[in-house]
Amino acid sequence: MREIGLWNVEEGVAQTFFEFDEYAGQCKYSDCTHTHGVGCGVLSALEKGLISKERYDNYLKLRKELKYLESKQNGSAQIAEKRKWKTIHKELKNFNKKNKQ
Ligand SMILES: [Zn+2]
Repeated sequence: MREIGLWNVEEGVAQTFFEFDEYAGQCKYSDCTHTHGVGCGVLSALEKGLISKERYDNYLKLRKELKYLESKQNGSAQIAEKRKWKTIHKELKNFNKKNKQ
């Protein structure tokens, strides 16, 4: 359920800020945060007045929220993964015990 939720947010950002996608593709670095001037397509578009400062601010705000959601999701996924392995190890132990008897 959470995955679908996050997907919707990502989709929403892409749809709301569709023009940013084009400029972000012009960034020198693929992991560009669009907050530093070095080779950033979004910032150069902002400088040229192709995108408004207001939209740029909103875009960064949404990206930040998305990152936070992603990290939260990764965190809970990792915990679930750990639990899964704990159960598997437990079952393996029991299995070995039974085999020895
Ligand atoms: Zn950029």
